[in-house]
Amino acid sequence: MVSGATIVVGVIGNPIEHSLSPRMHNAAFEYLGLDYVYIPLRVLEKDLKNAVRGAKAFNFRGFNVTIPHKVSILRFLDKVESTARKIGAVNTVVNEDGKLSGYNTDGLGALEALREAGVDPEGKKILVIGAGGASRAITFYLAGVCSELTILNRTRSKAVKLASDLKSAGFKAYGDGLTVETLERELVDTDILINTTSVGMRPDVNRSPVPEELLHKDLVVFDIVYNPLETMLLRYARKVGAKPVDGVGMLVNQGAISFKMWTGCEAPRDVMRKAVMDSLLGRD
Ligand code: NAP
Repeated sequence: MVSGATIVVGVIGNPIEHSLSPRMHNAAFEYLGLDYVYIPLRVLEKDLKNAVRGAKAFNFRGFNVTIPHKVSILRFLDKVESTARKIGAVNTVVNEDGKLSGYNTDGLGALEALREAGVDPEGKKILVIGAGGASRAITFYLAGVCSELTILNRTRSKAVKLASDLKSAGFKAYGDGLTVETLERELVDTDILINTTSVGMRPDVNRSPVPEELLHKDLVVFDIVYNPLETMLLRYARKVGAKPVDGVGMLVNQGAISFKMWTGCEAPRDVMRKAVMDSLLGRD
C-alpha cells in the first residue's frame, strides 16, 4: 500500500505503456516488504529537462531511462559513471542527496544473463548485430572478456564508430556493415552471436536479422529481444541445434542491478523473473 512515507522510483520513456519494469520492480518491493513504488512516466523529448528537474524536486529515489531518452539524458545529470559515459547512454539514475547520478546496467545485465545460461564469454569470438544503445552497453562489457569482437550494423558507419570507441577505451573490436556476405564471413568461426537490433520484436515476429542457413550448431545465439519470448532468430537457432538464450535474463538482471542501487537490498531475481514471465505469457 502506498503511504506518505513511500519512496518513489520509476521509468521515463515514450512510449512507456508496454514496459514490464513496473510489474517486475513492484513485485520485488512487495516480496521484500519494502515501502517503495515504481511508476511508469511518459515523457516527451521536449520535456526531458523539466522531467529530470521534477524527479529531483519530487525527491524520487531514482528512475530507469528508456527509449528515446537514454542518450539525451546525460546532459541533464549531475554525474555520470565512467563506463556509462563511454557507452554514451544511461538506463539508471540514482538520487544521491539531491544529486542525480547516471549509470548503465544493461551491459552487466547481459553478461550475467549469459553466465546464468551457462555460457562463459571468456576467450570466445563474439559477433554482435546492431550498434544502437543496447549494443554499445553490451560491447563495452564483453570486450573486456572475449577474445575477438565483431559488430555488424545496417548503418555501417555506426558499427565502425562503435569499434573505434571501443579501441579508444583500450579494447579490440572490428565494425562492418550488416549484409549476408559479412554475416557469412563472420559466423563461420563465431562462438556467440548476439542480436541487439529490434528485428523480430513484436509485432514484427516473423523477421530474423540472420537467415537460418547461416547459423550452425556450435553457436550460442543470444537475442536480447524478449517479446516474443522465442523470436524467429531463436527458433532458427533451436532448429539447427545451436544454444538459444532469450532476452528475459538480461531484462531481469539489469533491473536487479538498478534495484540494488536504489534500495541497497539484493533483488529477488526469481520473483522479478516470474513477474516478467507471467506478463509475457499472459498469466496475469
Ligand atoms: P536503438 O538504439 O534504437 O538501436 C536499434 C538497432 O537496431 C540499431 O543498430 C539499428 O540499426 C537496428 N535496426 C533497427 N531496425 C533494423 C532493421 N530493419 N534491420 C537491421 N537493423 C535494424 O535501440 P536499443 O535501445 O539498442 O534496443 C534494441 C533492442 O534491444 C530493442 O528491441 C529493445 O527492446 C531491446 N533491449 C532489450 C533489453 C533487455 O533487457 N533484454 C535491454 C535493452 C534493449 P541502424 O543503426 O542501421 O538504424
